[in-house]
Amino acid sequence: MLAILLCSAFALSAQSRDARIAQRADALRPTLIETRRDFHMHPELSNREERTARVIAEKLRKLGFDEVRTGVARHGIVAVLKGAKPGPVVAWRTDMDALPVNETIDVPYKSRNPGVKHACGHDVHMAVALGIAELLAGMRQELAGTVKFLFQPAEEGPPEGEEGGAPFLIKQGALDNPRPHFIFGLHAGAAGPVGTVGYASGPAMASGDEFTLTIRGRKSHAAWPHQGVDSVTVASECVLALQSIRSRRIDPLQPMVLTIGTIHGGERHNIIAESVQMRGTMRTFNEGVRENVRTMMRQTLDGCTAAHGANYDLRWGAFSYPPLINEPQLAAWSAAVLQRVLGRDNVHATPPVMGSEDFSYYLKDVPGFFYWLHGANQSRGIVHGNHTAEFDMDEDSLPIGVKTGAALLLDALERKP
Ligand SMILES: [Zn+2]
Ligand SMILES: [Zn+2]
Repeated sequence: MLAILLCSAFALSAQSRDARIAQRADALRPTLIETRRDFHMHPELSNREERTARVIAEKLRKLGFDEVRTGVARHGIVAVLKGAKPGPVVAWRTDMDALPVNETIDVPYKSRNPGVKHACGHDVHMAVALGIAELLAGMRQELAGTVKFLFQPAEEGPPEGEEGGAPFLIKQGALDNPRPHFIFGLHAGAAGPVGTVGYASGPAMASGDEFTLTIRGRKSHAAWPHQGVDSVTVASECVLALQSIRSRRIDPLQPMVLTIGTIHGGERHNIIAESVQMRGTMRTFNEGVRENVRTMMRQTLDGCTAAHGANYDLRWGAFSYPPLINEPQLAAWSAAVLQRVLGRDNVHATPPVMGSEDFSYYLKDVPGFFYWLHGANQSRGIVHGNHTAEFDMDEDSLPIGVKTGAALLLDALERKP
């Protein structure tokens, strides 16, 4: 009986807190829009988020954060907000970088940095994170524990030869002192209508491993192919042979995609090409499959090139994404919080996607949950996918991100790790 009473008392207090959070998040709407537009107009590429970091640090300091550590993993920021009461530590992560995409939509907040655009919604992520920060800073007196905010550069991958992204931020101590019990984050996109969120329990996003493959043959006159080794013919066979890993060697019930995205080779129409270079990506949800495919690619390329007297070089990119797995129990708990805040009909269980996100690195270290903040609006033509020149988000999604994020963090402070 006592347990039931305590439970319903908790549910009641959570509900009245949700109402207060919703009210404050809605009141923050103009600030959220202004912040988002400022980031949108001043996008910066991966590991170059200098101005972005400056703006964020200034805002956090103004909010009275206990600690604002800048320059983490280049332009990253780790900020700590301590509640008035003791308690555990929970974390919220946002990314910061934009993409080399030329913005084609005509909006008042159009990118002022030609050729660079927040085409993946990280501007929305930052505005939401700062909104949550402001909301929770205002609730400090009742906050039982510590909330840590991670502002992460280079989610889209650092430039060649540089370290970056989640692994670099973690390496530089983002998850230490204090170590969070739980970590949360979201991703903006137009997969669903504004006002709703989505989530996948278990595998949510694929691993992403980028590779460069060079096939080396030997040059000769095109009319005397037998005097050379034609890397174009060998590359053609290799591309097709690699596809049979998907179709013949991996369990059909295991999702996996192997894509060769670029292919370049040769110099002239009448010279046998000495070398062909290809770049591609491999994605899956399973670490075992991920490892097996790497081995099978070598086996396939060993055979395919040897058969023609050619050789090859396969290099995996330094930056890779593990699969993003939402641990089912914590996902169910988080989904219940989202449903309480937004209503059952506005929280959609969605299928996993083959896209990648380096939030998966945090989930390898700390239990957490990652969900989709939907921002599509058919009537306003906001329907385009992430990474496109037309990508946009309905800004009504901003307060939704803030109220769901704040509720998850506050509830997580009361949840046993
Ligand atoms: Zn992206
Ligand atoms: Zn993204």
